[in-house]
Amino acid sequence: MNQAPTSLLSLAIAPTRIVRGDKALAASGNAIAQLGNRPLIIGGEKSLASLASLWKPVLEQEGMEYAIAFYSPDCSEASLATLREALTSHQANSIMGIGGGKALDTAKLLAHQCHLPIMTVPTSAATCAAGTALSNVYSDQGAFLYDVSLARCPDLLILDYSLIETAPRRTLVAGIGDAIAKWYEASVSSGNSPSSLIIAAVQQARVLRDILFQNSADAIKQPGSEVWREVVDATVLLAGVIGGLGGSQCRTVAAHAVHNGLTHIATTHKTLHGEKVAFGILVQLRLEEMVAGNQLAVAARQQLLKFYGEVGLPQSLDDLGLGNITLAQLHSAAEISCHPDSDIHRLPFEVVPQQLMAAMVSTTAPVGELRVKN
Ligand SMILES: [Zn+2]
Repeated sequence: MNQAPTSLLSLAIAPTRIVRGDKALAASGNAIAQLGNRPLIIGGEKSLASLASLWKPVLEQEGMEYAIAFYSPDCSEASLATLREALTSHQANSIMGIGGGKALDTAKLLAHQCHLPIMTVPTSAATCAAGTALSNVYSDQGAFLYDVSLARCPDLLILDYSLIETAPRRTLVAGIGDAIAKWYEASVSSGNSPSSLIIAAVQQARVLRDILFQNSADAIKQPGSEVWREVVDATVLLAGVIGGLGGSQCRTVAAHAVHNGLTHIATTHKTLHGEKVAFGILVQLRLEEMVAGNQLAVAARQQLLKFYGEVGLPQSLDDLGLGNITLAQLHSAAEISCHPDSDIHRLPFEVVPQQLMAAMVSTTAPVGELRVKN
């Protein structure tokens, strides 16, 4: 029997430390100080100002010499270059990201490049960026360019429920869309893996999906409640750990590839990452249906359409505000999603832009259509 050579595996599974609870940020002064007394605080200009009464006193009580810097215009190479200068001029010895996915991705990547301790304080439950060892890099205009695997997960993740409760409801809905994608993507990319860790990651993704199916509608209705906390934990923490456990073998498939293509259409910047990913899951299932004749995908898509209706996730291009998109724009997004390096090619069949476009415009097609075609 041929034995595959044992390849070297580097895993970054979870944050070193998570502090979680009501007013967790206010209680974290000591944990923050342990990682450095000259932090550079990175976030958006508006959100750092509006949240100043929450983060400033914590740093001041510990006598820390902090400086602030903004990730403007995006998590882009230009922003990172400016931030490296800010880091040097402040002689920072730690970095704290406060904000949404892009603020945290910028802070994490900067810390990775400059070999400094990194702390994340998510201000919404819209992504699992606070806990993962991965950053997405965008153009200054917000188009997705590439992702970077980081050497490790954050040293400290502060999950402050009282802070996250103040975020718009829509951010939690988007986080649910991003997190539920784990199952649909991991089961395709890694469902047949014999690796213990990857089997565990795929099974956790299924558990995550079921938690979200069961609790999302209630959580959205009752911010701050027990069930809301469980869903926040699922989208921010569990989704991140699944990505960490699965590692580079257990990556995204078509749902995120569709998201990446859509970010190149300027009008999609009004929608959140998880909203585009949620739409991308439907596109992925539609491809499995149309290209591979997969009947399980038909059922899964109907189940998701019902769920999206309950929680308010986008079911179609129209729901994403792309009802008037031109054929040329759709084609260009589809071409980017089908680029040779794209994760869409982790599907067990080949996909060309024309097929992808057909799937993108028919995410809400009724069940009967496949049968009629057959
Ligand atoms: Zn995502």
